[in-house]
Amino acid sequence: MRVLVIEDEHKIARALKKALEQEHYAVDVSYDGDDGFGMATTEPYDVMVIDRMLPGSYDGLAIIRALREKSIHTPVLLLTALGKVEDKTEGLDSGADDYLAKPFALEELLARVRALLRRPAEQQNTVLRSDDLALDTANRRVTRGNKDIPLTSKEYGLLEYLLRNKNRPVSKDTIMQHVWDYDANILPNTVEVYIKYLRAKIDKPFGRALIKTVRGFGYKLEDGEKK
Ligand code: CA
Repeated sequence: MRVLVIEDEHKIARALKKALEQEHYAVDVSYDGDDGFGMATTEPYDVMVIDRMLPGSYDGLAIIRALREKSIHTPVLLLTALGKVEDKTEGLDSGADDYLAKPFALEELLARVRALLRRPAEQQNTVLRSDDLALDTANRRVTRGNKDIPLTSKEYGLLEYLLRNKNRPVSKDTIMQHVWDYDANILPNTVEVYIKYLRAKIDKPFGRALIKTVRGFGYKLEDGEKK
């Protein structure tokens, strides 16, 4: 899952990036409104964390309004130094999905980001499943059958993305855009390499493959019983 953080206070922005990366998200940071708005409209993010007060011609509220006008409905968590009721109302009216007043605990921010990511009806549950494979987004634990499967950060991110798009073919480009951040060193075969790592951990030892190759396109994670 890919996250955009728009926050002009570098110290907060860095802390957010670090905390979100520890949760296995791919994270891009922008330090001003104009640049942030540009990124928000050109890259496919799964969730955005936007500060209300930003330098440049777009503040947080203007960014959210402009995104909604462009029919970009990515969930947004709005950050603000102001904690008054009317500011909260204004934030939510502008199209933000949630609101967090500074100072906040990183744990609370992470919990809210998780909640925004599972907002669609089919993603209410914290556990994503396919067959006997389970990925618990609350404690980032992956199991198949009764076996714990330790994954690296990128393997986890890739598996979470495939599970959230279960039974749908996803292209290599789409995977790259949602699992890797803007600055990542991506080679043409990066996705293939990580799919191989993931298969070695979640499929090979179990004899029944969940990750299918869609030739010339990408991959699909399929429920075993749907075959
Ligand atoms: Ca600010």
